[in-house]
Amino acid sequence: MDASGIRPVEERPAPVGLERLLEVLDEAQAERLRDAAAMVAEALGDRTIWNLNSTAAGGGVAEMLRPLLAYGRGAGIDVRWLVIGGDPDFFRITKRLHHAFHDSPGDGGPLGPAEHDHFEAVARANADEIDALVRPGDVCICHDPQTAGIVPALVDCGALVVWRSHIGTTNQTDRTRAAWDFIADDVRHAHHLVFSRQAYVPDDVGDVPVSLIAPSIDPLAPKNKDLTVAQQRAILGHVGILRCDDLDHTTYERRDGSPARVDHVADIVRAGPSPTPDTPLVVQVSRWDPLKDMAGVMHAFAEFVDHGSDAQLVLAGPNVSGVSDDPEGAEVLDDCIGQWRDLPHAARARIALVCLPMADAEENATIVNALQRHASVVVQKSLQEGFGLTVSEAMWKGRPVVGGAVGGIVDQIVDGETGLLVDPTDLEAFGTAVAELLVDPARAEAMGEAAQESTREQFLAARHLVQYADLIAELLPSP
Ligand code: UDP
Repeated sequence: MDASGIRPVEERPAPVGLERLLEVLDEAQAERLRDAAAMVAEALGDRTIWNLNSTAAGGGVAEMLRPLLAYGRGAGIDVRWLVIGGDPDFFRITKRLHHAFHDSPGDGGPLGPAEHDHFEAVARANADEIDALVRPGDVCICHDPQTAGIVPALVDCGALVVWRSHIGTTNQTDRTRAAWDFIADDVRHAHHLVFSRQAYVPDDVGDVPVSLIAPSIDPLAPKNKDLTVAQQRAILGHVGILRCDDLDHTTYERRDGSPARVDHVADIVRAGPSPTPDTPLVVQVSRWDPLKDMAGVMHAFAEFVDHGSDAQLVLAGPNVSGVSDDPEGAEVLDDCIGQWRDLPHAARARIALVCLPMADAEENATIVNALQRHASVVVQKSLQEGFGLTVSEAMWKGRPVVGGAVGGIVDQIVDGETGLLVDPTDLEAFGTAVAELLVDPARAEAMGEAAQESTREQFLAARHLVQYADLIAELLPSP
């Protein structure tokens, strides 16, 4: 293999002062975060923390790394991010691995010795470049299977190495075990392993210490930042989801603080006029993926949410036209549109399928933000879910959420207190849960408030940073 073109690229998120994050925390949390930042800065001395992953954009890991690095750098810690390189065969193999960790067949191809040799050759090419940057005593956090092959080389350099998995399924099967076996000899060299949930920890991690760290959301990102009601309505009016005369407030603030405006519009499949701002909306935002079961949400709503109710359903996902690397998305959307056409007219008139513009990631995030904030009820009827970011995003916005009782969602929602959990294969139970919240706004509001508090406590970037600080303190030799 010609590995000469393979080298990692450094990403440099602009620092963001921790004080901005402190503003959304309660006093006890703010103190914990301040203490953790001071403790880790002192313990690190002149060591650098390196994060390694395989993409700078797209995907939850990059989405989380960006703010965590920005806050770490804002706290004066030398934390850096290397995006490893690879050739198309490498990424075909790692995509296959990713699917296998989720117990899905993926492209059906093998994960045998030839694939392993290629995987290791690409890892070596990356490691040769990284060796020159990493100094003994530095901390390296390698994210997901793509980086597993680099772990032994970093350990040999004298770095303190953490391998972190952001993926997994509750039930270990022959396929998930084969995926683990593909990388296990590499990652068992690490000084520490991190998984999102206990259920995702493989049986045979050897004697490597394990920590559990759940994902988090950034309250200051365009996806989650506060928007006024006027902004929400104008943005949803502009893109075409709502009927709204006052379109004067479509501006928002970018991550770098500069002003921007929602310019693009959504592609919408609907029958009849768009809802007014007073129409209660039930909303699911997700990729057009079979495991998100948009079609199931549609049928649950059509059959089991009373036709006398004036509520409407909005199923929103990314625009798939022209996205050549996700043919499955276009297929799932087409299938949903077909099933929508087959519904009786009265049901069609209450359900819209929305493709959100993807031309600008921060604009897309702002539209999702407005939609989640405006919703009366947010649903996430996933059939399988490692961790539902959309669930925490909606809960942070004080929305009542009805979630499928699967995977990480069961850690995010306390059933009956901070939302409702329902067997996602039971359409009647799902529709009934949504209807219960629609007819009882006081209960929905109380649930939304509880949801926001539990998200503040458990799933914001602040908790994530404190856990990282504790992990790093544990790794470093005592003074
Ligand atoms: N999302 C988005 N625009 C869309 C659809 C989804 O920004 O049109 C975001 C959504 O807000 C969430 C992420 O994509 O932040 C999806 O993460 P989740 O954990 O819910 O599911 P995944 O896609 O990772 O399986």
